[in-house]
Amino acid sequence: MVQKIGVIGAGQMGNGIAHVAALAGYDVVMTDVDDARAEAGLDTIRANMDRQVRKEKISDQAFRDAMGRIRVGSTMALFDGADLVIEAASEKEELKKAILRELCPHLGAEAIIATNTSSIPITRLASSTDRPEKFIGMHFMNPVPVMQLVELIRGIATSEETYKIARAFTDRLGKDSASAEDFPGFIVNRILLPMINEAIYTLYEGVGSVEAIDTAMKLGANHPMGPLQLADFIGLDTCLSIMQVLHEGLADSKYRPCPLLVKYVEAGWVGRKVGRGFYDYRHENGPVPTR
Ligand code: NAD
Repeated sequence: MVQKIGVIGAGQMGNGIAHVAALAGYDVVMTDVDDARAEAGLDTIRANMDRQVRKEKISDQAFRDAMGRIRVGSTMALFDGADLVIEAASEKEELKKAILRELCPHLGAEAIIATNTSSIPITRLASSTDRPEKFIGMHFMNPVPVMQLVELIRGIATSEETYKIARAFTDRLGKDSASAEDFPGFIVNRILLPMINEAIYTLYEGVGSVEAIDTAMKLGANHPMGPLQLADFIGLDTCLSIMQVLHEGLADSKYRPCPLLVKYVEAGWVGRKVGRGFYDYRHENGPVPTR
């Protein structure tokens, strides 16, 4: 039975995964490159759970119990005895492979490893472990405590038992899963990112302004957020790298990244996290469209 969860990477995804796992009653260990970053991830969890208490989504007792179940640090030795370790470090293939190679000797033979990668093939990452049959993609959505979906992606060697364990874990988190095959972008990003890229082409070709495009898709397609605002939330650098993975992996020109997206990334205007993307977030009265 899965009881101890490891999370590698205390960034926005890692701390979100640790957050929901602790609330679901699992013992959680979360690491990052150094103790300070791991502690910063824990601070984020505390602040986010505190907000949930104030909104009466969770009780004060649940908050205290969950925080008591999380330990953080910066060494792989903390994963000793873990049943499931979820890798959520930065999206760099060589880094993830090195992490996986270092992790395996610390785990018992039965432990399962999952990766939260958005774009790297699961089968390729599995080959850096000593247990490809116990390796699976668990693609959480951002922000993890809010978003309901986890995509489950089997590599070529992933066993049925591993899939069932990952699915049972997802269920206990109170989330829904969708099963995807190991192809570039899986399901969500394969469909979502070309739509965002097309919205950027629509802007690039002057079909509409930022405001017109986002309003059109919000009111005309009933999307909760316009595609350009969503791109800013995801990060334009992330959007570009996913389009590049689709373009290279599927070798079809329909996935070519829009030149305007490339230009924004080259300018460093990568979205909300830097204060500027298709909107300028540095205004007191809220985001202002830039085109
Ligand atoms: P992030 O930059 O917020 O966090 C990554 C963390 O990994 C950082 O804190 C970094 O210090 C840490 N890290 C780097 N090397 C490490 C190591 N050797 N050991 C432990 N920690 C290490 O990034 P993120 O947005 O949380 O993304 C993490 C993963 O989740 C990526 O694979 C990304 O593709 C995937 N993902 C992201 C999103 C999203 O919307 N941001 C959605 C789904 C999946």
